[in-house]
Amino acid sequence: MGEEHSIIEPTDSLSDMCSKFGKLLGKEEPVDASVLIRAINEPGYGINLVTSKNTPESLNALLHAPQNKRYKSSVKQTKSISNFELIKKAAASFILWSKIGFLVVSNEILEKREDACLRCPYLTDPTKTLQKMIPSKKQTGNIGERIGKKVCGVCGCNLQNKLRLSSESCPKKHPEKEDVTRWDEKINYK
Ligand code: SF4
Repeated sequence: MGEEHSIIEPTDSLSDMCSKFGKLLGKEEPVDASVLIRAINEPGYGINLVTSKNTPESLNALLHAPQNKRYKSSVKQTKSISNFELIKKAAASFILWSKIGFLVVSNEILEKREDACLRCPYLTDPTKTLQKMIPSKKQTGNIGERIGKKVCGVCGCNLQNKLRLSSESCPKKHPEKEDVTRWDEKINYK
């Protein structure tokens, strides 16, 4: 796949993103928007899609899985700019994550990131339809589940997913330390 297919541009429409996602899966045709939205909301499904790209039968089954229908209604929600921006951000972050081989952070880093979010004034409840649709594990006292369904008020991301992905970063500078984010990780904003 060429680099030109792998980057979500600020001017991309939903159909541009579906074409790029199709290319990511080695297909000439765009994927259905419900496939794109499910992949970015359910990392397990997204990983299965990308890792099945050389097995047409499995890929086809995933592309037409009945569960994808659940996301049909959220395709309509993309008419709202804020929902559309969320999808764009999530699609870009998924593609970035796929490029580093779907690496997830260690439990120690997950705990540290989660602690920081739990103390953060930007931690908030989901308000947008797309944020509410994202399947998250119930809030428990376990590492990675303490955050429940909360989202980051700055980037709008579902934190249960975001916290685990190596390619993700906190969008806010640390209030007391230089050159690090609120997760106490080196700032690498572009
Ligand atoms: S990702 Fe960063 S800014 Fe967002 S809630 Fe967590 S610590 Fe706060």
